[in-house]
Amino acid sequence: MNPQEYHFKLPKKEFDKTIKIPEVWYPGVKKYWERCTTRRIFNPILGIKGIVIHATAGHSSAGAVSVMRDRKGSFHWLIPDEDEPEHGQIIWATVPETLAAWHVRNSVKHPDVNQGKNKTNHWSLGIELVNSQINDPFSDWQVKMAADIVKYCWSKYPNIEDVVSHAKLDPSRRSDPGVDFPWKTFKEMVLDGGMDDLVAFEKITENRLSNPDVESHEVIDGDVCC
Ligand SMILES: [Zn+2]
Repeated sequence: MNPQEYHFKLPKKEFDKTIKIPEVWYPGVKKYWERCTTRRIFNPILGIKGIVIHATAGHSSAGAVSVMRDRKGSFHWLIPDEDEPEHGQIIWATVPETLAAWHVRNSVKHPDVNQGKNKTNHWSLGIELVNSQINDPFSDWQVKMAADIVKYCWSKYPNIEDVVSHAKLDPSRRSDPGVDFPWKTFKEMVLDGGMDDLVAFEKITENRLSNPDVESHEVIDGDVCC
């Protein structure tokens, strides 16, 4: 399957609970936010319309976070590779969902995605999977974690609809998450996989929905905070 065709829509669905994901702040990442994020121009809950799936084209979580340190980009979550100790355990939270991360060029757009609107970073969330994209299969766990993050977002953001590859949005410059990413399996995990294996917690209140300053990430116990 061509990564430029990786795209599906999340049907409108009412959730009683918001899904919890095993996320931990990447140590020290908070100090990079000022240099590689932007305040969202849309409401950080109601204005979220999509999720963009990326792969790092690198070999480590540290290498991916160095992009944030160097002001070259940013993303909301990072899914560790097989040879990292966190693999199979936790995913890294790297930017608060309330902030726009810099994971897609602001000028790009696609007519199939959020009615052809640009400024994708402002209405989307970005997931990075650590993967070299060169003869490097994604692990089943990595794919499941990507699906679980999407389910979490689906349960939390009432207007979210598009799940799309970076390659579809910016085909002249990007091919991620690459030909090795099992998009069909991933899509089935999201749409048909159910929510039973995920820990749910109470749905956020209306009050939180209307507060643009809300810190959206829920952080699990034992977190190493920055
Ligand atoms: Zn990308």
